Amino acid sequence: MSRVYNFSAGPAALPLEVLENIRNDIPDWQGTGMSVMEVSHRSAEFVELAARSEANLRELLNIPEDYSVLFPQGGATLQMAMIPMNLAQAGETADYVVTGSWGKKAASEATKFCNATVVADASDKNFTYIPDESSWQRNDNAAYLHYVPNETIAGVEFHFVPGGDTPLVADMSSTILSRPVDVTKFGVIYAGAQKNIGPAGITLVIVRNDLLDRAPKNLPHLMTWRSYAESDSMTNTPPTFAWYVADQVFQWLKRQGGLEAMAVINKRKADKLYSAIDASSFYSNPVAKDFRSWMNVPFILADASLDKKFLEQANAAGLTNLKGHRSVGGMRASIYNAVPEQAVDALIEFMSEFEKNV
Ligand SMILES: *Cc1c(COP(=O)(O)O)cnc(C)c1O
Repeated sequence: MSRVYNFSAGPAALPLEVLENIRNDIPDWQGTGMSVMEVSHRSAEFVELAARSEANLRELLNIPEDYSVLFPQGGATLQMAMIPMNLAQAGETADYVVTGSWGKKAASEATKFCNATVVADASDKNFTYIPDESSWQRNDNAAYLHYVPNETIAGVEFHFVPGGDTPLVADMSSTILSRPVDVTKFGVIYAGAQKNIGPAGITLVIVRNDLLDRAPKNLPHLMTWRSYAESDSMTNTPPTFAWYVADQVFQWLKRQGGLEAMAVINKRKADKLYSAIDASSFYSNPVAKDFRSWMNVPFILADASLDKKFLEQANAAGLTNLKGHRSVGGMRASIYNAVPEQAVDALIEFMSEFEKNV
């Protein structure tokens, strides 16, 4: 078997230990004589899995009792519509802070349902910073404030939580579970799974229970958070295999020592990669230092004509998926939980050798 170091932005690397458990489990899951894909979501075994995964997630993130944990389908993108559908009716105002492509997409989707207003916008500097909170043009009557704590494409991250009494709605797709977070500061946290949770196909929504009552009665069942909350996310058949893998990932995180332990490793991984980039005159990262992402590290080569050669040689060295997003160019190393520190060390070593030899 030969595994590469996978720096994909998403779907992203999964822990090898989890993959090996899955392989073992597939033919005969928990003595059922079936794979987890073949059992009923109403079976005792699956209902137990669902309950355990939620309990473990609650423990990992320290989620209070007055929040519901939902596992819908549709990814983070469907939530960009479900948020206004559940929280703000036509004519109501919702505030959006746009510090990258995902925040922009969320704001644009919300305009279909409510008066979504962009209250801060970092596109003037190509999403390389976060506008000072005091400059945000917030509306007093906003139903919620939406922001993206980690913008996956430009690699820009909030290292603070915005203030105020308006319920905060956060797209944590690419930062969830990378470190502890104070859930009580948020109204809604949502995330697609395929970065730090598991395979694509399942979505996580953590919502404060009082916000479940805002949805209009005529919303379709599957668009209504309350339906998921009242049915333990079994409103219809859930994505059972993806949920099973997420459950494995939550157990793996607990074995690593939880999110405090992950935070230490993740910070160290990011620090050493940024240090290597900053110490070189050949590589650069365009993001203001205070707002650099722990999870997604874009970097540009001084000579873009070498990009192709860099990627070819990196691939040959077992370092894959380093091509940057087309809107930023250059490279991007996504170093989520499942990307081991050795992968970052190997990348730094490779970058240094490449620089020497060009
Ligand atoms: C990947 C990503 C998305 C899109 O997620 P889907 O699950 O594909 O809808 C949205 N927001 C952020 C911050 C992301 O990183």
